[in-house]
Order: sequence, then structure tokens, then C-alpha cells
Amino acid sequence: MARSEFTIRAARVWLDGRWQLAHLDIVDGVIAGIGAGAGRGRRRRVVTVPEDAVLLPGLVDSHVHVNEPGRTEWEGFESATLAAAAGGVTTIVDMPLNSIPPTTTPAALAVKRTRAAAAAHIDVGFWGGAVPENLGTLAALHEAGVFGFKCFLSPSGVDEFGHLDRAQLGEAMAEIAALDSRLIVHAEDPALLGAEDGLGRDYESFLRSRPAESEASAIDAVIDAARRTGGRAHILHLSDGAALPAIAAAKASGVRLTVETCPHYLTLIAEEIPDGASEFKCCPPIRGEANRDLLWAGVLDGTIDAIVSDHSPSTVQLKRHGDGHFGLAWGGISGLQVGLSAVWTEARRRGVPLEHLIPLFTTGPAAVAGLEGAGVIAEGAPAHLTVFGVDDAHTVDAQALLHRNPVSAYHGRRLVGRIRRTWLRGRAVFDLSEGGAGAAPQYRKPPSGRLLAARSAPRPVGVRA
Ligand code: ZN
Repeated sequence: MARSEFTIRAARVWLDGRWQLAHLDIVDGVIAGIGAGAGRGRRRRVVTVPEDAVLLPGLVDSHVHVNEPGRTEWEGFESATLAAAAGGVTTIVDMPLNSIPPTTTPAALAVKRTRAAAAAHIDVGFWGGAVPENLGTLAALHEAGVFGFKCFLSPSGVDEFGHLDRAQLGEAMAEIAALDSRLIVHAEDPALLGAEDGLGRDYESFLRSRPAESEASAIDAVIDAARRTGGRAHILHLSDGAALPAIAAAKASGVRLTVETCPHYLTLIAEEIPDGASEFKCCPPIRGEANRDLLWAGVLDGTIDAIVSDHSPSTVQLKRHGDGHFGLAWGGISGLQVGLSAVWTEARRRGVPLEHLIPLFTTGPAAVAGLEGAGVIAEGAPAHLTVFGVDDAHTVDAQALLHRNPVSAYHGRRLVGRIRRTWLRGRAVFDLSEGGAGAAPQYRKPPSGRLLAARSAPRPVGVRA
């Protein structure tokens, strides 16, 4: 096969933590060379990024629920990874639920890998699950290459993925510490959650049923378990901004702890959610405006390590189940494609520069998952790149998004900043200029994503032939 060679040049390339005028020589999918300045285009083909856009490393999203197999009608590898590419994301790490089987055994992981290998348009890694049934046997999944283990401290929403009680949390943390893996935790304390049957169509009733104290209590338990065992722990989808001081203090005292939040918590507020609008239902819930300010303070002071989608779709029918009844509708936000645009829109309003956000969408989530070398533009790295038009205004249309079910909490929102083009190993996997959102099947190329395994695995797996 002939060598594929081209050069990409841009006035603003995100390189070594700052914007630089540079050109990248791409050879066979790898960044073979980086030169200062615009370069002279030694390679045959030159792509010039327009002055009103920036060249970023492909984004990393360590929190995505793909649901295939078993609930593929909720979301599958093809639709999820196309949506990711359109959002500038070139690497996702898939959550161990809501697929069937859940990723709680090596056999289940093998099933997920087979499905992903056939359909993924970007690179995919996998989290394992830590559930009551597999405690004591996590080493096998670890050796099979999962990036870590997810657990819930409250009911997960699906019957086949049970939650851990406090004693089991300690056991899991000790087992995972011995493996030098990581435990990632859905932190809500079930003792402080209200009953779902007390809910109605009003958002306020839902918000009251999942108070901030439930997050704070569960986070304290995670910090305690991590401190006692010396293991690595990660707080998923932080919604309660008031929990940040405890997290910052734990980190400062040497506890191996990281924390993520999501675009919906940084951009949406309870005061603006209409009654019956179940597209906004997620757990923990979107809270009030003052809480959003606390989360932004955590973004600015460095306590928050990553911003990830927690993309967790269902069918339209389930998301609308009960005609907007917050106790009946599926809880989960489908935000994989719009994360950077949504957060950048809010950041601009607050005077926060784009450069402050980039690590939170790239190296931050890569570090959370232990994805070595991901999320940077560097010589020798795979050419995972994305072009972001920083001033491109657009209105989100749920029907035009590429994830499977056209429901979005961002539908109708005016956003500023949009992904124009994404490359995976130097190959265009999204191009806004080709058929608008790129959804048209005639523009779809065969899937070229690879399966990623954690370095703990004895050998690399699933590299596409
Ligand atoms: Zn999730």
C-alpha cells in the first residue's frame, strides 16, 4: 500500500499546553514531524486550518454508555462513535452497564469487544464493573485489559448491575488497590435518596428526592476507603459543587483521588428546567444556579480533573415514559456530540479562556482512565486531531445529532463553537462540510476505530487487521 502523507498547518495548534503556529507532517496515520511556523508543505497534500479555528488533539471521553449488545436500540457502537467523532472525540471508554451482558466478567468483555470491533469509528476502551457477584475475582477482568472498575453505591437503574454497600466498597477498594487498578464510583448515598414513587412531573420533586447531601455522604465514604487502602479512586459525574472542598482536601492530603463533572452540570440549571421535561433527568440531578457557580470554581481552581459526557441514552419511548413523570422516565443525558461546544459557550459568558478547558477534555480524562499518551499532539503519536471553529454559532437540533435516539437536553439551544473536522490516525472520520452533520450514509466510511486495552493486560488485544 502506498504511504499516506499530508501536512496540516494552523495558526493555533494546541501543542505543549499552549497555542502555537505550527505544521504537522502526517505519515501513515502518525504525527511524524512537528515544525514551527506554517511550513512549506513538503508533503504532497496540505490542509490549512482557517484562522478562525484551532487545531486540537482528538478529545478523550472516559464516560460513555454504549449499551451494545443487549440494549443496542438505546445506543450502539456505530451511532455512538459517529456522534463522538462529530463532537471532536477520538477515544471513548465504555461503561460496564447498560449493555447485556454488563462488563463484569472476561467473557462479557469479549462479547463487547467483538461488537465494538465491527462498528467503532473511533478508538474504544472498556471499564469493568465491580458488583456484589464478582468481588474477589476482579483480577481476571483486570488482566483482560479493562481500564478500571465502576461501582454504584445506590441502585444503578438496571437490575443486572447491583450496587455495593459500604462494606463491599471497602472490599472492592482493597482488591483494586492490590491490582494497582482504579475504582470509579457513582457516588450517591441510598439512605439519603427519596422514593421515586413520590415524584411527579415537576422537576422540583425530582431534585428534592436526590439531595446534595447524598452525594457528599457517598463521596466521604469513597475518600475514606481510598485513604485506608491507598488505592486509586475516582468520583464520577460530580453534580454537588459543595462537595469540592472535601475532595480538594483529600487530594491535598495525598489520597489518590480524581473527580469529573459533565457539560450538563456546568451549563444547565434547575431553575430553567420545565416541568415534564424528562430529557433533563439524570442522576445525580442538575442542580441550581448557585451550585453551578461552585462547579465552575472547581474547574478554575483545578480541583476538577476532567469534563466528560456521561452519555447515557435510552429509546425515545423510555426517555418520555410517563409523559414527563420524573419517577418513570429513564435517567440519562445524551451529550456526546455537543460537550465542548456547550461548555465553551458557557465559558465565554464567564470570561474563561478556551485554553483552560482543553486539558479537561483531553489529558484530564486520559489520566482518569490511565490512557497513556492520549489527548496530546506529539511527534510519534497517532494523528488523532480535531478542528474547532471557536466562533461558529449554531442551534442544536436533536434530530440532526448522530447518536441513535433523537432526544437531547440541548435541543434548541444556541451554542458557540463547533467541531468542523476530526481525524483518527490521519483519516477523516467527521467532516462538517460533507453532508452537513455528516449523517448521510453515503459519506460514511468503514469503521476504523481500534480497541484499547489497559497496560495491565499481558498483551495488546483486538488491533484491527
Ligand atoms: Zn454514567
